[in-house]
Amino acid sequence: MKTKIETNVLIIGSGPAGYTAAIYAARANLKPHLVSGLEPGGQLTITTDVENYPGFGDVIQGPWLMEQMKEQALKVGTEFHHDIINKVSFDNNPFSAVTDSGLEFSAKSIIIATGAQARWLNIESENKFKGFGVSACATCDGFFFKDQNVIVVGGGNSAVEESLYLTNFASKVTLIHRRDSLRAEKILQERLFNHPKIDVIWNHTVDEFIGSEEPLSLNKIKIKNVKDNNEKIMEATGAFIAIGHDPSTYLFKNKIEMDSENYIITKSDSTETNIKGVFAAGDVKDKIYRQAVTAAGMGCMAALESEKYIAENY
Ligand code: NAP
Repeated sequence: MKTKIETNVLIIGSGPAGYTAAIYAARANLKPHLVSGLEPGGQLTITTDVENYPGFGDVIQGPWLMEQMKEQALKVGTEFHHDIINKVSFDNNPFSAVTDSGLEFSAKSIIIATGAQARWLNIESENKFKGFGVSACATCDGFFFKDQNVIVVGGGNSAVEESLYLTNFASKVTLIHRRDSLRAEKILQERLFNHPKIDVIWNHTVDEFIGSEEPLSLNKIKIKNVKDNNEKIMEATGAFIAIGHDPSTYLFKNKIEMDSENYIITKSDSTETNIKGVFAAGDVKDKIYRQAVTAAGMGCMAALESEKYIAENY
């Protein structure tokens, strides 16, 4: 097996940004290589209904959409690697990157599209019950909570969508939010407030997850009123944390310019980073919009900018 690969464009990540970059780069005859990462297809593979990606009259499924993007990228000539980049160097151009399986890339340009990952509450008991009642993905784990009481933590689109989704299985869903208003879109809020299976507890945070030891399983949640610090215990066997995401930029720490929250900084109206020839697209650089369609748009921009960079520098 060939371990050294020279390429015009190395794309890291396989969400909407990565695949769209691949489609555009391949159609520009740049013969891109895409390394998919741990979760091929990205966050949309753990979503169900998608009704805001333009071009589809009917509701489509997130995993299906990502399969289609992959198929399109492969059809136009992308080389796909189901692998993980574990080392990258921007010190010399061509840049270099190494994968877990030992592939060594030498790339004239790199497009970083590594996305973002779910944020946790970071309380001690959360770790203990992760996978035993505590989850960050309703679409992955909701099925296991048929006819049970579950809670969802958060106040954004994700928390509301997860709450609505969980009503397909749970007997009751309680949304717990630290403020007295949601930041989710109004249409989602309306659906939430009108749903007979959903209650909202305002101005509360989760203090502790409590459960039995053998078998390890969650059955109670201690919540605290942020106004008067009063605590109370709720009965619930499932807890879904939906409090946002952190960008997947660990690999690039101290190698590329990032902001205080570790999002990659790009130039205005561009995907260009502080390193010439390195571009960033999608959730890894965007903490405002974070939509599949905006990520795809940025992937397109990154490929076009990468094409221009190669034409001007090689
Ligand atoms: P988000 O909009 O950043 O919301 C995070 C929520 O979690 C906020 O309500 C925040 O409270 C709360 N929170 C954060 N840290 C917390 C903590 N430590 N303890 C308790 N609560 C905490 O994140 P998101 O809902 O994941 O959405 C991210 C982006 O993706 C948004 O731009 C959203 O529009 C987009 N999105 C879109 C769709 C869609 O269009 N269908 C679906 C999902 C997500 P505060 O409100 O008090 O800050």
